[in-house]
Amino acid sequence: SMASPALLMRVVASAYSVAEKAAKIVRKVMATGDLGIVEKTGANDLQTKADRLVQMSICASLARKFPKVTIIGEEELSTDEVTEELIEDGHCEEILKKTCPAQYTGIKEEELVIWVDPLDGTKEYTEGLLDHVTVLIGIAYGGKAIAGVINQPYFNYEAGADAVLGRTIWGVLGIGAFGFQLTEAPAGKHIIVTTRSHSSTLVNDCISALNPDSIIRVGGAGNKIIHLIEGKASAYVFASPGCKKWDTCAPEAILHAVGGKITDIHGNSFQYNKEVKHMNSAGVLATLRNYDYYASRIPNTVKQSLVP
Ligand code: AMP
Ligand code: MG
Ligand code: MG
Repeated sequence: SMASPALLMRVVASAYSVAEKAAKIVRKVMATGDLGIVEKTGANDLQTKADRLVQMSICASLARKFPKVTIIGEEELSTDEVTEELIEDGHCEEILKKTCPAQYTGIKEEELVIWVDPLDGTKEYTEGLLDHVTVLIGIAYGGKAIAGVINQPYFNYEAGADAVLGRTIWGVLGIGAFGFQLTEAPAGKHIIVTTRSHSSTLVNDCISALNPDSIIRVGGAGNKIIHLIEGKASAYVFASPGCKKWDTCAPEAILHAVGGKITDIHGNSFQYNKEVKHMNSAGVLATLRNYDYYASRIPNTVKQSLVP
């Protein structure tokens, strides 16, 4: 008989189904038209009913199956009891069939940290830019992002009623990433993807120094990593604090699983142990290929303005 699948694969398989449930909640809240918007630190830092319900759903569903795993979610929620209809207990069979990389087979529950962004791109969600939105579940071990799930609830929403709405991308270091078509960005072109709602002089000055052929301004860290792995952009550049560990954990695991690289603006890798500071204070630099081209052109003045 088959040995029981490794814990990591069971967590990823469950996170896949939990993220699909999350996407249904994201679409349902939008369909009701009552977003229940709350300002957190200001008008560009919002929380909706979808952020709240999805975080409850993801955290409670994963905690029920994996009680000793540390789960860190973006939203601070009053300890509302979670209703049973928010719980997802399914898993993706296809993921369970994959072989766990040898270095991860011995992982115990208490050694995993799961970083949850229930809704990445909330500002864009409230503005109807629905395909910018993602649900992010990142899995860290030994301080490193090793696996992740990105659900895009409104993938294909402008493709017509016949198109399948939404998709789930997942990846594990040493296995690869699935649920999309890996595509290289156009050779020799510097297409920069960056924030649309959190720009600053520093953010724009940094991009200018990279000699971009074009700049794509879209919401969401998850969405910007999707731009990299689908060849729509050659670098994600954000020379500013603002992005947090739950924004980068799942995207990092997926990008690294296909040979890409993500760091802060200085080139420091991110840490994801449970004690780490949440803010990525020194910004984000990510590419699928040619990381060194961009890293070597970040101006020193920009670096000096961003303390890790
Ligand atoms: P963006 O590229 O602007 O969509 O940002 C990516 C992620 O970082 C999103 O989750 C944003 O909410 C978050 N973020 C970036 N900058 C800020 C900021 N100045 N204040 C609050 N959140 C931010
Ligand atoms: Mg976010
Ligand atoms: Mg969020």
